[in-house]
Amino acid sequence: MEPVSSLRYLVVGAGRSGIALVRFLLDLGGQVVLTDVRTEGHGAEVMELSRRGARLALGGHDEADFTEADRVLVSPGVPLTLPAIQAARVKGVKVWGEIEFASHFLKGKIIGITGTNGKSTTTSLTSLLLSEAGLDAVACGNLGTPLIEMASLDSTKKHYVVELSSFQLEGVETFRADVAVLLNVAPDHQDRYPDHAAYRAAKGRIFENQRATDAAVLNRDDPQTFAFAPGLKARLSQFSRKVTVTDGACVESGMVTLRRGGSSRPILPVADIPLVGVHNLENVLASITIADLCGVPAASMARTLKGFKGLPHRIELVGEVGSVRYYNDSKATNVAAAARSLESFPRGVILILGGKDKGGDFASLLPAIRERAAGLVLMGKAREALAAQLGAPVPTRKVETMAQAVAAAREMASPGQVVLLAPACTSFDAYHNFEERGEDFRRKVQDLVAGSGDAARVR
Ligand code: ADP
Repeated sequence: MEPVSSLRYLVVGAGRSGIALVRFLLDLGGQVVLTDVRTEGHGAEVMELSRRGARLALGGHDEADFTEADRVLVSPGVPLTLPAIQAARVKGVKVWGEIEFASHFLKGKIIGITGTNGKSTTTSLTSLLLSEAGLDAVACGNLGTPLIEMASLDSTKKHYVVELSSFQLEGVETFRADVAVLLNVAPDHQDRYPDHAAYRAAKGRIFENQRATDAAVLNRDDPQTFAFAPGLKARLSQFSRKVTVTDGACVESGMVTLRRGGSSRPILPVADIPLVGVHNLENVLASITIADLCGVPAASMARTLKGFKGLPHRIELVGEVGSVRYYNDSKATNVAAAARSLESFPRGVILILGGKDKGGDFASLLPAIRERAAGLVLMGKAREALAAQLGAPVPTRKVETMAQAVAAAREMASPGQVVLLAPACTSFDAYHNFEERGEDFRRKVQDLVAGSGDAARVR
């Protein structure tokens, strides 16, 4: 590997991973240009990079910056189909994602986790299972901290539990995970991929560079995921909530069980898992399978699992008013996640859908809606598209804002029912991210609680 100081780098995208990349490159004496199409809204961090010697090329891309670089490092938000990126490739310039580049500098063990849904929950839980057992584990990647930020603290003892999006996996070349995990594959990001096959193929790249001594973990219950099994080079582990597996985690007589090489170990009763929803059982089974591959003892796993309450904005109880419980699943940004979320509750859900449509097939929500929903609130930019595709199988209201959505849901809900924000859309019509949307929902619910004089019920 050539020393960083001998090469010219172009970093594309001035978001969190782009900024982290530039910092890292400057620390090692690299020559860096940072480009972003956005002119406005760059914070002090970007200006600081300029003071430290990076050249900023903001407000558009100059093709010459791409073709004259030795390496082009691309942030996950930037599509690799960008003409300037294509031009660099034609000239033989290496084009890598941040994950690929970061992996060149890490000696620790890499546990890569991808899938359409459940990545963040599984990544956090796995990292916790490992660290509670005394391993030096850290959750990173798509979850928040870019992998490149780990390089300065690297050691062979580290376990990097890396959440990987399909966008990040598009930018790999030699990246190899010691343990590579695929949770599920469902339609998503139809606005970025030409078809579902291309999206699924991007996910499959997590296995591309694995060796026979590595481990691959697949969801046995999802045919699109398990279809990767025959092509794997790594040793296969599986998890299933429906059938018994030979190597991995499954459920036997209500007990989460680990099976390896003919032996079977009970971990904990399914009923003791504090998370809501069958999808979270899948995330737990995946995490246990990984933890076992890393040598975590069963007793430690059971202890950690009992205390894991899940992440905010993932089916999070945020308040109760008039015997109606309000759940925030703002992270359910695609149709599959919203369907699983809805299926996590008994009949009688007032479901709030909407936001920015990313080309989802909303009609595929209809079976779950007919089975579980007592009412629909369609909000934001996607409300007309939702209404057109769903019809009104249950009482339905169309609104613009979150305040109106919560007010409408409150009017529609009867005591004992649940109001669930599981939008099946991104938040970008009105918010910067799903966290902001979830916080707005939480605030509106808290206002309701305060107005009802039942402040004790605010979560
Ligand atoms: P990701 O990081 O892949 O978006 P999260 O763990 O943040 O995954 O969960 C996002 C949403 O997806 C959750 O709020 C829930 O609605 C849904 N979900 C979580 N895990 C699964 C799963 N294993 N299968 C299907 N849907 C899931």
